Amino acid sequence: MYAKWHSACWPVPMHGVTGLAALEAQVRRDIALTAHPRADWMKENFRGGKPVLDVLIVGAGQSGLATAFQLIRERVSNILVIDRAPRGKEGPWVTFARMPTLRSPKDQTGPDLDVPSLTFQAWYEAQHGAEAWAALGLIASKDWQDYLVWYRKVLDLPVRNEVDATAIAPGTLDDGGRCLLVTLSTGEVIATRKLVLATGQDGTGEWWMPDFIKALPKDRRACAPDEIDFERLRGRKVAVLGAGATAMDNAATALEHGADVDLFCRRAEPSAVQQYRWLTFAGFLRHIGEMPDLWRWRIMGHIMRSREGFPSDTYKRVMAFPDFRMHLGRSWTDARMDGDRIRIDTNRGPFHADFAICGLGTRQNVHARPELAGIADQIALWKDRFTPPPGEEDPLLDAFPYLGADYSFQEKTPGAAPWLADIHLFGIGSTLSFGPSGSSINAMTIHVPRLVSGVTRGLFEGDLQKHWESLKAYDVKQVEFDWSRFIRE
Ligand SMILES: Cc1cc2nc3c(=O)[nH]c(=O)nc-3n(C[C@H](O)[C@H](O)[C@H](O)COP(=O)(O)OP(=O)(O)OC[C@H]3O[C@@H](n4cnc5c(N)ncnc54)[C@H](O)[C@@H]3O)c2cc1C
Repeated sequence: MYAKWHSACWPVPMHGVTGLAALEAQVRRDIALTAHPRADWMKENFRGGKPVLDVLIVGAGQSGLATAFQLIRERVSNILVIDRAPRGKEGPWVTFARMPTLRSPKDQTGPDLDVPSLTFQAWYEAQHGAEAWAALGLIASKDWQDYLVWYRKVLDLPVRNEVDATAIAPGTLDDGGRCLLVTLSTGEVIATRKLVLATGQDGTGEWWMPDFIKALPKDRRACAPDEIDFERLRGRKVAVLGAGATAMDNAATALEHGADVDLFCRRAEPSAVQQYRWLTFAGFLRHIGEMPDLWRWRIMGHIMRSREGFPSDTYKRVMAFPDFRMHLGRSWTDARMDGDRIRIDTNRGPFHADFAICGLGTRQNVHARPELAGIADQIALWKDRFTPPPGEEDPLLDAFPYLGADYSFQEKTPGAAPWLADIHLFGIGSTLSFGPSGSSINAMTIHVPRLVSGVTRGLFEGDLQKHWESLKAYDVKQVEFDWSRFIRE
């Protein structure tokens, strides 16, 4: 129903033709040319006599959209993507990513899933020309969002905005098979055979804010993903906690709005190295998830503990302000209001500020997500499945979900919740199991098809009996015999 472009013929001569309309025609043609195998294969399934979805994807950011695209290419089109954000505001790019450009290099492909006409470069060149692309440094965050909006439009993906998934429970199909029941903020309950959670950086956790900062009055503190009225901070003293890219972007935005900013780095030195650059090679991206637990733990733990280094443009952005100060080796231990100011206690004495911004990134905590609250106790975490050698313990890694090879949740107690195998996680929570996968542009071309292959494997397995019946009933003749010419001996 959504896959109009599957088998259509698009005889469009592209050479010398420019502009988005021509590119869109090229996209349709490329997809039609590579649509093999074209045969529909999904069977209908029912609950209470009503058809159920094959896949519900929660999250219409780049991961959710690309997953929908790949599913439709695999001829699984009875799907729906939902997002709580309004159309065009999904993900961080034009909301809380307070950076003018992406941090990753412009030549890293992602949502296109290796279809050349769907790449950001093709989209950009179609509008601005090849020279402009060559001259471009990093991709503007707003352009990335516009590209994702275009991607969704040109692929005609079935997305419903401004609706939240609030609860997940197991259900049963009319034929006794498994399904999931997902409650939406509208009160509807959607029955689906598979659920993909593409819910972003905090999809299986929360943006980390120590309790003593949380306890400050709400108009005196914020966490990086919050909406912040930076205009109100003009002329004020702002204290930023954290020294990763997100903390620096918030510091820069406050400085650009005329605030006086002090940033606090717990370590003796901020990180100038971006480990994600090191790991962006095919061997790692493709195979780290297949390695023994110890190696995944050791390598991904090392990378995640090393804090994300900020790009040089971000550094220049804050250093352009002579009043910007970064305090090294100074961590916050407490905070409270002291008259009209915030008193922040640190390991090197108190500091006073008017506003505090917490830029510590996210932490895994499946219990913190409302839609997972009812099932969180049953999800196996790394701490349930792996014991690190002495000296390599890390409680932050312990809290990551321990995923199956198809990105599905595993049961904490074997046999207690087999339906968890139908919930596939494609977010930062997948990182300890698979390395960069969900929530990372550099890994999408490898991991989205792999995720979808896991999902379609389960769908196929669930319908095996129906496929068996379909095979036995298969009677499409390739040739009509002329029996008068055959001699039965
Ligand atoms: C500030 C910032 C900058 C980044 N910069 C880069 C970069 O330069 N390069 C790079 O490779 N990566 C970057 N990343 C990492 C990653 O690429 C992004 O986080 C990206 O947005 C991940 O895409 P996603 O689709 O997985 O999640 P998101 O884009 O976050 O999309 C998730 C969507 O799920 C929706 N959602 C969540 N829960 C529910 C629910 N219960 N019901 C309905 N909808 C829900 C949200 O509204 C959201 O739109 C950055 C991340 C951040 C936070």
